[in-house]
Amino acid sequence: MTSPFPDLFGVLESTGARITRNADLTPLSRWKIGGRALALVEPSSAKEAASVMAVMSDRPEPLFIVGDASNVLFDSAGFEGVVLRISRAMSQMTISGTSAWAQAGIWMPLFTRRIGCEGLSGIEHTIGIPGTLGGLILMNGGSQRKGVGLNVKSVLCADEAGNLFTLDQEACGFAYRTSTLQTRRAVVLEADLEFEAGNPSEIRSEMISIMASRRAKFPKNLPNCGSTFLSDPAMYATVGAPGKAIEEAGLKGARCNGAQISPLHANFLVNTGGATSDDILYLIALIRQTVQERTGYFMDCEVRHVAPDGRIRPAHEPAEERWGAVDLTKVAGL
Ligand SMILES: Cc1cc2nc3c(=O)[nH]c(=O)nc-3n(C[C@H](O)[C@H](O)[C@H](O)COP(=O)(O)OP(=O)(O)OC[C@H]3O[C@@H](n4cnc5c(N)ncnc54)[C@H](O)[C@@H]3O)c2cc1C
Repeated sequence: MTSPFPDLFGVLESTGARITRNADLTPLSRWKIGGRALALVEPSSAKEAASVMAVMSDRPEPLFIVGDASNVLFDSAGFEGVVLRISRAMSQMTISGTSAWAQAGIWMPLFTRRIGCEGLSGIEHTIGIPGTLGGLILMNGGSQRKGVGLNVKSVLCADEAGNLFTLDQEACGFAYRTSTLQTRRAVVLEADLEFEAGNPSEIRSEMISIMASRRAKFPKNLPNCGSTFLSDPAMYATVGAPGKAIEEAGLKGARCNGAQISPLHANFLVNTGGATSDDILYLIALIRQTVQERTGYFMDCEVRHVAPDGRIRPAHEPAEERWGAVDLTKVAGL
């Protein structure tokens, strides 16, 4: 993929960040799905990341910020823009008393283990969740109906123009699997978190038990993006979790080419080999429509789809746009 506008790589190189031209997004994505982007940019400091935001604010190409792409569906047709990746090149952390500071690209399993080893309690529920701290904060991710936001004191971000600003916990507006960061065009760079002093061996036992339960429930060998649909409290009270609703609709194991509704956990869509973004979107449309017909509830996606033109939407929106009335003849395995 090449840019129709001049000087894109010149301005990106002026930021000091690592640049890959015509980057293949497939290996970055947990689903192993994606075409090529004009450029992949990987800063190693808050300053470099803020510079990327600043130079891109004057550019016509879209910018997409990503961590480990464990909650993202790249389009197989690619992305006609720049992917700013906050990941391992920004993964320093320090612990002082019951507080921790970390760069947003740190790998969550490592962060959670280090916090636990220090005898700090509060984020045991995040053990086993892949992705970066920045991605988890933006999604207010977690498990056991908790979110990482409970332990976030403040977050350092850069806005579209590259200006640094700090948000405290209240300003982050954490709620179930959401935060106000999702509606700001800003990049999360660093965070300060606060924990409670606990007993290291009790914390370790709790983490081992959570990991064992995750291993038994979730598919691990095939590429996937975790839970595809969000749990809606009203639906949960009457019908149950999305996985149960999908299973009761008889959709477990259904396939569209290389994409499959996991036979192990129906809220996970797996890439059994060669799946495209359309195959995944098709299964999303099939599930949403079938479950709505049976239960009356429309389930929304947690996973975000990145369109080639830069539109970022929860994946059920492009799924419905493309596959409004689902044709069951495309589905195998029912
Ligand atoms: C096997 C599996 C199990 C999972 N289990 C869970 C679970 O139990 N609970 C849970 O909550 N989630 C779960 N997830 C989803 C996912 O791991 C989390 O949402 C994760 O925190 C996302 O982090 P990421 O770095 O991969 O973000 P990405 O997928 O890269 O990005 C997610 C969103 O955050 C934005 N973003 C990422 N980094 C930044 C940044 N630095 N600044 C600004 N925006 C940013 C992206 O633009 C995107 O909108 C699971 C995923 C998988 C694959």
